[in-house]
Amino acid sequence: MCHVERNDELPEENGLVEIRICPKCGKVFYALINAECLICHHCNHLLYDQRAAERIPVSVDFIFHRKSAQVSATLEDYSATGVRIAYSGKALEIDAVIGLDIVDIEQLAIDMTAKTVWTKRLAIDTKTKNAAFESGLRLIKEC
Ligand SMILES: [Zn+2]
Repeated sequence: MCHVERNDELPEENGLVEIRICPKCGKVFYALINAECLICHHCNHLLYDQRAAERIPVSVDFIFHRKSAQVSATLEDYSATGVRIAYSGKALEIDAVIGLDIVDIEQLAIDMTAKTVWTKRLAIDTKTKNAAFESGLRLIKEC
């Protein structure tokens, strides 16, 4: 059942290109492996190579939308595929879908839907006495 198909349409050095999916428009394009940064050929969205996309630490306050609620949060780091956020109040459960609207980051505006991958409890905020949480979110295509 399993067989390898030669695809002669790919360039000779086909180990140097790979298929990427734009997180913004969802279209597929070929990209050079090891490129430092990538731009979608369809919508010009800037995205980083997965392998080069180590998490970039930041500290940006923003608001996320959960159902009808708006929650203040701090973006702690981000990559091409996910973000890590800290917030207080109610923990996000796994698979909770939230809307992110982050525009303060150089070169990367995140206006996307994201899905909670993990949540952990942080120390209680000594100022507000609120429970504080940290969550890892995977960015998903807007639909
Ligand atoms: Zn695109």
